[in-house]
Amino acid sequence: MTRAALPAESPIVEPKPAGTEPIRRVPPAEGVRLVDVMGGAERLEVRVHDHGFVALVDAMPRLAPEGQTADAAIVQAARVSYGQGTKQVSEDRGLIRYLMRHRHTTPFEMVEFKFHCAMPIFVARQWIRHRTANVNEYSGRYSVMPDRFYRPSVEKVRRQSKSNRQGGEGPIEVGAAERFLEYLGASEALYERYTRSQEEGVARELARIGLPQSLYTEWYWKCDLHNTLRFLSLRLDAHAQEEIRDYARAMWALIEPLVPVTMEAFRDYEMESVRLTRLEVEAIRSGAPGIDSTNSRERAEWESKRRALGLDPAE
Ligand SMILES: Cc1cc2nc3c(=O)[nH]c(=O)nc-3n(C[C@H](O)[C@H](O)[C@H](O)COP(=O)(O)OP(=O)(O)OC[C@H]3O[C@@H](n4cnc5c(N)ncnc54)[C@H](O)[C@@H]3O)c2cc1C
Repeated sequence: MTRAALPAESPIVEPKPAGTEPIRRVPPAEGVRLVDVMGGAERLEVRVHDHGFVALVDAMPRLAPEGQTADAAIVQAARVSYGQGTKQVSEDRGLIRYLMRHRHTTPFEMVEFKFHCAMPIFVARQWIRHRTANVNEYSGRYSVMPDRFYRPSVEKVRRQSKSNRQGGEGPIEVGAAERFLEYLGASEALYERYTRSQEEGVARELARIGLPQSLYTEWYWKCDLHNTLRFLSLRLDAHAQEEIRDYARAMWALIEPLVPVTMEAFRDYEMESVRLTRLEVEAIRSGAPGIDSTNSRERAEWESKRRALGLDPAE
């Protein structure tokens, strides 16, 4: 709405009260230059699979004092309560690692990333469960869905896992893999029927519903660092589906140069850490080979933690 179109009594057209003009301060301190944390790039992109990608298109903060990274925004937020000025970079590292170890999470929410991503619909369905992000997706009602489908290579066709009902493990024999790829090919051929339905006047919002889950969609996905790390922790885990793990790996590669100290701490205190239950601590203390549980899954989890810790396997 233009100013002229506003009703005369609108408070928006009132003159600004004195003292509300923003004070512009550039650079933040004497002798400090601000640099773009994305190195001046409009977009940093990692290709995933045949047609997919994760592209970092913006970040907050976008500018950081020269020689620093977006990690600086975490330190700045954490120090607000002390009112302290700029500290040594080494002290900043210690502070970030302390925050990560003690799960003081809100300073990590001060950094945000905006990604442009393309992924098959079955991956998008898992991804969208991460509710703390802001998402805007391509509309198959408004626009024609492009002719792009995910198709794994023969070697990447996995067999159903026996130990994990939700997962696949190891390649399946070539004949079965090839028959599976034929089945995917047949579902991709439905694209021609999708096109024909639209030519015959069927609405795009209905024509699309016969297309398979291997079809690509795309979206903008904006998320703060704390919740991005949560996404990475869940979707890089061995229990997550291989295809979404590939996207999580791409996301990690994109953000690591922007928040290197945080990612190092995240690796040390989350990704490569081992969380122990009370029963497991008891087993270590008593030297017992197994944990005191009748639950077979829980016992198997302890076995895998023992291996990760380099303890002798239980007898
Ligand atoms: C390996 C794996 C297997 C899975 N299998 C299944 C499955 O079979 N079926 C299925 O349905 N899902 C499944 N999921 C999805 C899973 O249950 C979660 O929905 C998903 O991982 C998102 O996790 P989240 O809720 O922690 O993340 P987010 O939605 O990003 O939430 C992060 C945190 O924010 C807070 N939060 C967010 N929204 C709310 C809210 N509305 N109210 C209160 N607090 C909120 C919570 O503390 C939450 O933990 C699976 C996930 C993984 C990783």
